[in-house]
Amino acid sequence: MTDSTADFLLGNGRIVDGLGNKAFDGSVLIQEGRIKRVYRMAETIELPASVGRIDVNGMTIMPGLIDAHCHISFDEPSSNDELFFHRREGLAAIIAARNVQKLLRAGVTGFMDPDSLSEIGIDLRDAIEAGIIYGPRMSVGGNALLTSVGGTAGRLLPDEGRRGYGKIVGSRDEIVAEVRRQVKNGVDWIKVHVTGLAPRMQCEGELQVWNYSELKLVTDTAHELGTPVVGHCRGASSIRDAARAGFDLILHATYMDEEALEAVIEAGVPIAPTFTFQANLADYGADVGASPSLQALFKREISDSAVMLKRAFDAGVPLLCGTESGFSITPYGEWHYRELQVFVQDIGLTPLEAIKAATSDNAFALRLEGETGAIEAGRLADIIVVDGDPVADVTILGQVDRIKQVYIGGIAQPTDPVMPVRKDPPGWRVSHYGDRILNYDFVHSGKK
Ligand SMILES: [Zn+2]
Repeated sequence: MTDSTADFLLGNGRIVDGLGNKAFDGSVLIQEGRIKRVYRMAETIELPASVGRIDVNGMTIMPGLIDAHCHISFDEPSSNDELFFHRREGLAAIIAARNVQKLLRAGVTGFMDPDSLSEIGIDLRDAIEAGIIYGPRMSVGGNALLTSVGGTAGRLLPDEGRRGYGKIVGSRDEIVAEVRRQVKNGVDWIKVHVTGLAPRMQCEGELQVWNYSELKLVTDTAHELGTPVVGHCRGASSIRDAARAGFDLILHATYMDEEALEAVIEAGVPIAPTFTFQANLADYGADVGASPSLQALFKREISDSAVMLKRAFDAGVPLLCGTESGFSITPYGEWHYRELQVFVQDIGLTPLEAIKAATSDNAFALRLEGETGAIEAGRLADIIVVDGDPVADVTILGQVDRIKQVYIGGIAQPTDPVMPVRKDPPGWRVSHYGDRILNYDFVHSGKK
């Protein structure tokens, strides 16, 4: 670990540039926190003795992973109940400052936190940028904007006011005021829950809980203030309306129909499908006691949506890699590679396309498009050194012991800081009376 920004050469590596080009052997010169020059193996390298040399000996040099969808403030809740009613603001911020170290260890050099408990994402980003703690580059939203129908937490949300990561906006005036307040507080993105759950809804995906004109009001207000808008959309009409209203990024975008696909392609709006949560629950949910019907539902969401997402991709719509890390199904520092695997196995991208999605394309989510996410002269030196070939198998990026070095702005990050053994603070998790209902028959029929 070093705080120094001294010039150095990462030599003798296999370079995967994150721009979709074929890998090649070479070296990377880092100067003042940026990539100064990329050398092919055959080129002679003449550098002054003051430039340090780090021989990476055939390992892969690639841009650090960027996660376009990670909830750093949530601390791995197993239910919305826990997330909305068991967290305290100050403690959540302190724990987030610890959890962010796990992302570094996993080779994540940047992530987008679209909404956070009590907007502590803003504080965490500022603390990292100010050099208070180590951490990946961050872009952040504030409280997610919700209508009183709610989002994915349904009736846990109040009819008005703020709770957890959400702010309920009840009128056009309130929409405008809230967007302006968040911009004043320093958000990089405005986040809108365009769809949500309702008890008696009859639709594929979730119910659209905003109308087009309200969505347009959000984008108009935010764009006037130079701030992009990201929407949570599960369901065809919500995707269509968000694309037409000028949303800058759509999360999930599942259950698209032809009309929604056309709107997305016409707008060219990037999509972060964020299938990692669903894929983890579908593939491993049984191991952690998830209900089989929920597993089947999530499996279907991926298979039903993969074809339309691939058609969007083939028509030029960028697909960004996001993992929804931050829940008990997607703990920090462990699944940031998983969306690449889903992109390859379920959507049909090549490994090079998936890596590009997770690096140079994902720089868009950080609002650092063209600035980071690639091994290219002029870019910020946000680089990882990987023991192995992620082009042959993207899942090796999930093996943290293969991530040998992590640089952000040319500074080596501490990937093995000494930490005390983690325990949960009192009242932090939901506690159950038991795993089942204690029926009379259960006790007395001899079945227990
Ligand atoms: Zn999310």
